[in-house]
Amino acid sequence: MLSVRDLTVHYGADPALESVSIEVTPNSTLAVMGESGSGKSTLLRAIAGLVSPTSGAIVWHGTDLAATPAYQRNFGLMFQDYALFPHLTVGENVAFGLRMAGVVAEERAEVATRYLDLVGLTGYSNRAVDELSGGEQQRVALARTLAAGPQLVLLDEPLGALDRSRRDQLLADMQRIFSASGITAVYVTHDHHEAFAVADHIAVLHEGKLIRHGVPEVIWADPQHTAVATLLGFPIATVEVQDGIGRLGAAAFPLALPNGTHPVAMGPGAITIDAAGDLPVTVVARRFEGGVTVAVIQAAGQELTAHAPHGVRLGRTGASVDPQLIRRLAA
Ligand code: ADP
Ligand code: MG
Repeated sequence: MLSVRDLTVHYGADPALESVSIEVTPNSTLAVMGESGSGKSTLLRAIAGLVSPTSGAIVWHGTDLAATPAYQRNFGLMFQDYALFPHLTVGENVAFGLRMAGVVAEERAEVATRYLDLVGLTGYSNRAVDELSGGEQQRVALARTLAAGPQLVLLDEPLGALDRSRRDQLLADMQRIFSASGITAVYVTHDHHEAFAVADHIAVLHEGKLIRHGVPEVIWADPQHTAVATLLGFPIATVEVQDGIGRLGAAAFPLALPNGTHPVAMGPGAITIDAAGDLPVTVVARRFEGGVTVAVIQAAGQELTAHAPHGVRLGRTGASVDPQLIRRLAA
């Protein structure tokens, strides 16, 4: 069990991380999400022992790691840039940590083969690193990280440099490998698709503070904070509420919020283009997203999005609101 307790990190006067407490249970993956500059890398580097906290503690299975330097923590690190050794073969790269630990050549080759099999690179051991694609290089980096037998794996936007299809493949493989091998991991990303694909739990950082954590399904259903809803891609609408009835322009719907003006997150499908709907809108753009067409709309003086029929025309039309898909946000 990894416990981050009341962790604060300063680089200068301002805290990059402020009183963050979070636990990672064994054999589970925690995804740390947040916009750029929210403190994700700082949290990971503090866990790794690469930056010193101003206050608070990193505790691993009951032991405070304050006095344990990074190289003695036995945590595996993986970053966006592969940092493979260009002069070593793929197999030598994977077994590099074992060589440093004095493991003999034959056993190193065996371990390299096993981990290359695990990451889908069977037969690659004698290849040169510069012959590989970016996705393959990142698989080698993953094999190298895992072959060292880390107690905890720390990943900082590891797939950020890959194109979407390779990223999705490697994500699926990582999820499978982590759960099959009982890996405990902290996975930093700004992308909720990545976080949801790989994580058992999600923690959201905003301006150095932990503002939300829980299982992905609950975060999606109830983001609570505007910053979390925005990370999930939900437009924020401002609604007027009077006696349990919410109003967005001319549209009225039940909404259990106190009287007044409130920001709410519009989940996917909360607004649907429908010529007969009671919300007048102007479609200003549209994008085809495979299963659904998303229209960018102006409605009640706000820019929002709506689900739309394929080929929806730009211009004025109507829309309807499904209040079940509106997420209330904490004030
Ligand atoms: P993220 O990984 O979420 O993008 P970081 O943890 O890298 O965020 O940064 C958090 C904050 O700390 C930012 O305001 C960033 O500018 C600042 N910061 C990060 N690293 C350093 C550093 N080495 N020196 C000074 N400030 C830093
Ligand atoms: Mg970062």
